[in-house]
Amino acid sequence: MLSAQPELTTSPMRERRNLKDHSVESLRARFAAEGIEPWRAEQVAGWLWARGVEDPAEWTDVSAALRARFADEWERRALEVDAIARSADGTIKGRLRARDGALVESVLIPEGARTTLCISTQVGCPLACSFCATGALGFTRNLSVAEILDQVCRMREQLGPQQRLTNVVYMGMGEPLLNLPAVVESVRVLLHPKAFALGPRKVTVSTAGVVPRIGALLAAVPVNLAVSLHAPTDPVRDELVPINRRFPLAALFGTLRSLESVSPRRPVFFEYTLMRDVNDSLDSARRLVRLLRGLPSKLNLIPMNAHPDAPYRPPRDSDLERFAAELVRGGVTVTVRRPRGADIDAACGQLALRAVRRSDPERARSAG
Ligand code: SAH
Repeated sequence: MLSAQPELTTSPMRERRNLKDHSVESLRARFAAEGIEPWRAEQVAGWLWARGVEDPAEWTDVSAALRARFADEWERRALEVDAIARSADGTIKGRLRARDGALVESVLIPEGARTTLCISTQVGCPLACSFCATGALGFTRNLSVAEILDQVCRMREQLGPQQRLTNVVYMGMGEPLLNLPAVVESVRVLLHPKAFALGPRKVTVSTAGVVPRIGALLAAVPVNLAVSLHAPTDPVRDELVPINRRFPLAALFGTLRSLESVSPRRPVFFEYTLMRDVNDSLDSARRLVRLLRGLPSKLNLIPMNAHPDAPYRPPRDSDLERFAAELVRGGVTVTVRRPRGADIDAACGQLALRAVRRSDPERARSAG
């Protein structure tokens, strides 16, 4: 043992702690333990999250001694912009780089008065859904709280002066419920009035169906729940969303129907990606109506966004219309999501660092 060695607190190899890794509540506790007044956490949150000012030198309501301490002892950034792509339809995709070189993607989607940011929770994804480009990358690691939230900071910097971020959806790369503690902590920052101050109905967490963790998510934070459904029967869902083999539809819907927070005012949101001749038949639509009956829900139909890593195609227009009409007839609330940002590979399921892969295969391999 090298116990006689002094602690190498200034070693560049050592990850310094990051102020962005904490909710306001947990920062209060950390500060208290270190002899800093707990209410300083609200001040820090105001600078880091509400105002987006990361240099403690500019934190004018904080004492000089404390500003120096924050500057010396804590990181305030986790991600840098690697590349930005802007779609003709206004969608902006950011490829962001973490300290270890890992790349994550986030997508800003302006639609009228609303501007939604879609954020990632993991580098790659372990669930390997057969139609999803992220799934084809495999899994590298979870993102930290600071890395989840710095996506919001970096992408907010891309907005014009008249634009304001109104919604955040956890629908980027990765499975949020497999990184649950970091996701919950990051949601607390999005909702905190001194931080991003978003309303609970403005934040949506999507899961492919990690059923045992759904209750824990909703018990911890009052977000919208979205579930990636994609098929009304186990054999088809087993193929598309392999985690269905562990948690089949009966288990998923048993849990969804038992959730106390679900009501007509707080429905479950379902995503259903339509794939030609796979899950877009009239029979599938009828089964879906039966599956959803009595559960307060809204269903988002997403035509498959084709990409080179999956053999599936978008539905024929006539089949999409027939499918949606059958759901409406069955009393299901349906929206059809127009593909956004497809010209920059920013649409649902296309987040796979493809631009990197095309131009720089070496780096894509180490990142994916
Ligand atoms: N793992 C979580 C979060 C990712 S959400 C989840 O699955 O819910 C990303 C959404 O885009 C999911 O609904 C996913 O099923 C959908 N998606 C993935 N690939 C797609 C594709 N090629 N076309 C359309 N939607 C896709």
